[in-house]
Amino acid sequence: MTEKAELASLDVAAVLDRAAAGGRITPEEALVLYRDAPLHALGAAADAVRRRKYAGIEHIATYIIERNINYTNVCVTACKFCAFYAAPKDTKKGWTRDLDDILRRCAETVELGGTQIMFQGGHHPDYGVEYYESHFKAIKDAFPQLVIHSLGASEVEHMARISKVSVEEAITRIHEAGLDSFAGAGAELLPERPRKAIAPLKESGERWLEIMETAHNLGVESTSTMLMGTGETNAERIEHLRMIRDVQDRTGGFRAFIPYTYQPENNHLKGRTQATLFEYLRMIAIARLFLDNVQHIQGSWLTTGKEVGQLSLHYGADDLGSIMLEENVVSSAGAKHRSNRLEIIDLIRKAGRTPAQRATTYEHLVVHDDPANDPVDDRVVSHISSTAIEGGTAHPELKLIATN
Ligand code: SF4
Repeated sequence: MTEKAELASLDVAAVLDRAAAGGRITPEEALVLYRDAPLHALGAAADAVRRRKYAGIEHIATYIIERNINYTNVCVTACKFCAFYAAPKDTKKGWTRDLDDILRRCAETVELGGTQIMFQGGHHPDYGVEYYESHFKAIKDAFPQLVIHSLGASEVEHMARISKVSVEEAITRIHEAGLDSFAGAGAELLPERPRKAIAPLKESGERWLEIMETAHNLGVESTSTMLMGTGETNAERIEHLRMIRDVQDRTGGFRAFIPYTYQPENNHLKGRTQATLFEYLRMIAIARLFLDNVQHIQGSWLTTGKEVGQLSLHYGADDLGSIMLEENVVSSAGAKHRSNRLEIIDLIRKAGRTPAQRATTYEHLVVHDDPANDPVDDRVVSHISSTAIEGGTAHPELKLIATN
């Protein structure tokens, strides 16, 4: 029998039962399930795995309060899907934030109960390891309670090149200066064909994984991500998962997997299809089944909407990610969904789960098991900075007290 015929003859129900029971599935089986398994059955299998993985606390779903701090949008890498960056010569659109501005944003994060910052920006032609060392040190000196969960392999590759040091040295130095963990940004699509099509100047997917593996071996854990919907095939999506699972088998350093959908505005990929919401839910479920060695699967309401985020909790997700006090990158490309803490708590509760605010490392900080104790005056609202949307070099005052 040919390989194609063998795949066609796969008993979808039997593979699904094996996966639901905790058996490892092959990439070929994952592809068949992703394409052909009935949506609800796929979700039920993934939910069964989640419940077993979280036995005793399976009733809980988590969220985190964080702030994305965009230090610059100036970038030499020009990814085609990106609506955030400005080329170094584009002084009209390009901007940078100074350290005082960054520290002020950290202070607001602490004031509002945020526990994590994601330092996120373009590949600035002048920013080497020294820039990140000095900024992380300044942040940690002023706010030792903030976790710096930031950057990824692409930024490390870039800063090491600028400073003419090895990737190992770059990771070691920024870790010592205050970086706690990598956010896993820049994974996009790891297989070569779709990656070259959307981010031709970025390092290869193999190199991205190599750098993350190096980080894990140096004691810096990370999350992992996937950008869906820029024209990749289903087989390439599964290959992306396969590449992550192989590294995870060796390091165990990926804390979570976070797929999110491409936003089509203001970039150079106009006309490409977005992943449908059903495809997104299928990805959440197949990730829970295939990535048997990754503990957390995160639903992303920012790009898919709150209801789909809520549904993802029934398709294998255990976490709804963050209430971002500030987010500008995917918002620049059209992500319009906003939320606040009370709404996220309500969404999780209406999904039949108990909400819990978590730390970066997923410990539960506050379990909202009694609605009578919910925060009443909630200023924890997701927000976009006007500078990042409109361009310019000004540092606008953020109005953190806003209605949703
Ligand atoms: S995704 Fe990142 S690396 Fe790519 S162009 Fe945008 S800011 Fe630059």
